[in-house]
Amino acid sequence: MTIKLYNTLTRKKEVIKPLSNDSVSMYVCGPTVYGHPHIGNARAAIVPDILYRLLRSKFESVKYIRNITDVDDKIIDAAKKEGVSIDSITEKYTKIYHDNMTDLGNLEPTHEPKVTDTITKIVSTIEKIIRNGNAYIKDHHVLFDTDSFKSYGELSGKKIEEMLDGVRIDNASYKKSARDFILWKPSKDNSPGWDSPWGKGRPGWHIECTSMIKDILGDDTTLDIHGGGNDLIFPHHENEIAQGSCISKEKYCNHWFHNGIVLVDKKKMSKSLGNVILLNQLLIDYDRSTIRVALLSAHYRQPLNWTTRTLDNATNLINKIRGSINTEENFHKQVQTDISDILSDDLNTPLAFKYLSDLTKSARRNIEDNAKLLQSCSFLGLDFPSKLKSVRPNKALTSKIEKLIKKRNELRNTGHFKEADEIREELNEIGVTLKDKDDQTEWELDANS
Ligand SMILES: [Zn+2]
Repeated sequence: MTIKLYNTLTRKKEVIKPLSNDSVSMYVCGPTVYGHPHIGNARAAIVPDILYRLLRSKFESVKYIRNITDVDDKIIDAAKKEGVSIDSITEKYTKIYHDNMTDLGNLEPTHEPKVTDTITKIVSTIEKIIRNGNAYIKDHHVLFDTDSFKSYGELSGKKIEEMLDGVRIDNASYKKSARDFILWKPSKDNSPGWDSPWGKGRPGWHIECTSMIKDILGDDTTLDIHGGGNDLIFPHHENEIAQGSCISKEKYCNHWFHNGIVLVDKKKMSKSLGNVILLNQLLIDYDRSTIRVALLSAHYRQPLNWTTRTLDNATNLINKIRGSINTEENFHKQVQTDISDILSDDLNTPLAFKYLSDLTKSARRNIEDNAKLLQSCSFLGLDFPSKLKSVRPNKALTSKIEKLIKKRNELRNTGHFKEADEIREELNEIGVTLKDKDDQTEWELDANS
């Protein structure tokens, strides 16, 4: 079975064919560590996580590289604002990012380079680009000469005029063309900088990713897969291709994949709108499996429009699974599932969730289907622990249960016993047992739920 994935470069679904038969390399642009991660950052990590799980199931060895950007103007600004050192900002938010990603059930990448650990490689990469005639030095800046790279624009498919609209035209005197981009820029005394042949300075963002990839793979090795949010296609990934192609005999990367944006009620998340949804809060209100389902509920190439229904739908699916899954030992037999085939067609997570939902119908009584459900959930990183004696339901589930109990009591008090029993049934199905005591109704969530 092969894995088909849409390739932004060729604009079609293609089979992933790594250079070597049994190993594959993937690089994903990681976070710039200066603030709490939000659901947009989570989607950019969880989509590659699903691909990584799929690749691991097909190839003997997978290099999954995700970087940490710990040098950036935004970090410098955040340090000033919080009145602390740059290191304390990057250490603090790297830890928070790691904790959030683990709490979401994402697997760790195999390589996690940091920009500050890669400066030597960045400097030597820039020197090589200059030597090959693809960059120039002006006013202590090093700039990539986009006119020197003939296929510039191939990934985004943008024409020159569109590219100029897409980059900030700052009329900087040191640029030959507005679309030329910075490889190295000078640092003033109090901002972070490293010695270089062009004076004390720091790298531009695009050269960081290219250098981290080449540092791990070698200059003349093609990367198999490169991912990131689709807002990075231009100029970031376009620039990576230009830089990487100029220093190597080999193609920079074969397969490009990009995930869509996360919108909140159809609007872009922004601090000014006050609609940014942070993971640390979300992880208090919902369990990881519900959040994973919500983040993967739209196909990864489509925008994900986050509304209260996104979480309600995810909660419903998770409750359905909880209500039907049996995690006892004898229900854990090894079976063939369809989950890997479904995901192998361009990571079709909506179809994967339909598959889980269909399995819940028979999983309680059919050992085979129960095992399929367990294994498929585990493949997707959804966990339903079997060892727990009791389960603390999340806030959303608790509120749903309490609403249903209230409705049931109202029905009983008005003599609608049949409808009240139907609600008891509904609660039983999601693993809730009711105990009526005097005027109170107590409830308990099934140990296996
Ligand atoms: Zn990048």
